[in-house]
Amino acid sequence: PAQPTANIGVVGLAVMGSNLARNLASREGNTVAVYNRSRSKTDELLAEHPEAEFVPGFSYEEFAANLQKPRTAIIMVKAGRPTDAVIESLMEVFEPGDIIIDGGNSLFTDTIRREKAVREAGFNFVGMGVSGGEEGALNGPSLMPGGPDEAWVTLGPILKSIAAVAEGEPCVTHIGHDGAGHFVKMVHNGIEYADMQLIAEAYDLIRRGTGKSPAEIADIFAEWNRGELESYLIEITAEVLRQTDAATGKPLVDVILDQAGAKGTGAWTVQTALDLGVPVSGIAEATFARSLSSHPEQRAVSGGLPGPTEDAFTVEDADAFVEQVRLALYASKIVAYSQGFDEIRAGAAQYGWTIDLGAVSKIWRGGCIIRAQFLNRIADAYDADATLPVLLTAPYFVEALGRAQDAWRHIVQVSAGAGIPAPAFSSSLAYYDGLRAERLPAALIQGQRDFFGAHTYKRIDKPGTFHTLWSGDR
Ligand code: NAP
Repeated sequence: PAQPTANIGVVGLAVMGSNLARNLASREGNTVAVYNRSRSKTDELLAEHPEAEFVPGFSYEEFAANLQKPRTAIIMVKAGRPTDAVIESLMEVFEPGDIIIDGGNSLFTDTIRREKAVREAGFNFVGMGVSGGEEGALNGPSLMPGGPDEAWVTLGPILKSIAAVAEGEPCVTHIGHDGAGHFVKMVHNGIEYADMQLIAEAYDLIRRGTGKSPAEIADIFAEWNRGELESYLIEITAEVLRQTDAATGKPLVDVILDQAGAKGTGAWTVQTALDLGVPVSGIAEATFARSLSSHPEQRAVSGGLPGPTEDAFTVEDADAFVEQVRLALYASKIVAYSQGFDEIRAGAAQYGWTIDLGAVSKIWRGGCIIRAQFLNRIADAYDADATLPVLLTAPYFVEALGRAQDAWRHIVQVSAGAGIPAPAFSSSLAYYDGLRAERLPAALIQGQRDFFGAHTYKRIDKPGTFHTLWSGDR
């Protein structure tokens, strides 16, 4: 048989897999083996991209025979059962030491399970978060690989060659063992939900407070994108708001049905945070806000509920109001990111991963949806103190939160007064004040728990566990 020629392979040639394969093939030194369950996708890719010089396989045996050792294959198929099926097929044709990478959007607990099974069979398994959608896969994604150190030795240089580059550094790092990569990708998506919701609330407040048109608000976002809020999401928000609908001539945002979809990664982030006991209220509010929007039957019967009318609210100084909204957005964003990093920190402690939080913030600076100038500040914060217990207590953020204080509180007051829902703005402020509080009413909750369930409490003035004989005790 002919000598194998490919140093890397891709299984699954739908949009993500074929773009990643093309990205790999375009880099010096790579020869890419490809395989897809149904032959037509392989034939199409070969026909459309002869320049890539792909090495096709039409069975798992052929695919394996085309790969040099240690064989390295990235799976890009549907998450769940299809991924398990492909892993099982690869294990039949691969040899110990070979590396199987799952680049799909897998739940990190599935990755932990798969890593264990694959490792016990003598192979290396890497669960890898891939961010940036189709465009990122083709031109440079942000990559979050987990898995064993041994696999990173082979895989690292290949991944560095295809990742996005931010400030001269490739947007990839070995996140940690087994499910760490998919865990971090999950939290990335949760933060993305929070960021999008905050931006949407800012838009809504400005629109309803000042009466500006979507196109005028687009200019505001474009302006914001030149300052400390500079980010991909702010940039595309300006473009979305500027778009007019060809059919009606109206702003496109006004003809889009106001029910936000979700593929479930926000919910995973919140479910996992609940299990870990980490308050990611910004991500949770963002996830629930999408759910609320997607219940037309409930919204239809709720329009007549008492409260301020839509037109009851106008601000006097529009420019000042816009600036207050900007500051409230920035402060709430700091809270949301701080909560997300808190979840990563807690996940690492729970699952035994060593995760460099500063490195995580750096690999999100390019290739992914939440790429932003702001991530440099997070990297600086962890550079100065890698064990920072709460990200928002880093000096830079303390200064920014101080600057935003009055505006942030004012905007939350105004939104409540005007009956404009701003769940992410207000919950992030409540979280912030909860952290700041010297005493919390949690003391009362402990009293209640002891009253009805004899759950006991601790005292501030002496060690030990106490139970009171309440008058309710019979
Ligand atoms: P997809 O629609 O999720 O999956 C289609 C691919 O899966 C096809 O190649 C299909 O093969 C293959 N497949 C399905 N069942 C299979 C089975 N039982 N055995 C073998 N192959 C099977 O494709 P995608 O949108 O390119 O996404 C791929 C992965 O990347 C997913 O896990 C997705 O969540 C993740 N991801 C997507 C994005 C994005 O923006 N789309 C971003 C990051 C990550 P056939 O052609 O034979 O049907």
